[in-house]
Amino acid sequence: MSSSENRVGIAIVKGDVNELITKLNQAYADEWMAYYQYWLCAKLVEGPIRVQVIAELEEHAKQEHQHATLLADRIIQLGGIPLLTPMAWEQTKGCGYDATKNAYVQAVLEENIKGEQCAIRYYNELLVYLEDKDPVTYDMILHILADEVEHEEDLTKLLHDLTSIKGV
Ligand code: FE
Ligand code: FE
Ligand code: MG
Repeated sequence: MSSSENRVGIAIVKGDVNELITKLNQAYADEWMAYYQYWLCAKLVEGPIRVQVIAELEEHAKQEHQHATLLADRIIQLGGIPLLTPMAWEQTKGCGYDATKNAYVQAVLEENIKGEQCAIRYYNELLVYLEDKDPVTYDMILHILADEVEHEEDLTKLLHDLTSIKGV
């Protein structure tokens, strides 16, 4: 008997559990990519208010990594397997990201805001999907969505600060 057989905690999930695991794995791929995008941008970013931006990017990297952890744990709890390779992240990703060609602080902020907005839309749709199916995953995704909303706000405010300095 596999460890996920006869588990009431899995049986209470309404709808197709495998379909749900696939959706969570897409988010899992995107969280690793978001983590890496923030982690790398924090090292590469150049320009005014750089020190402040680096602190925010590093904090967000940490939080995206926590999201990946939450998603992996839930996928396993549901009897699934988190994507096994970075190659699988690339094949499964939803939002992904465009590699930074420009390390200037404004371009970095805009690129990361785009990523957050894609994540917000994805998690918001996922909540609608989960609403009448799985309260445990719903609660977890709601928590992640709140973080992404905060990330968008933080980056947007930094971008505003930057453009105020420049008088644009
Ligand atoms: Fe995230
Ligand atoms: Fe985020
Ligand atoms: Mg923040």
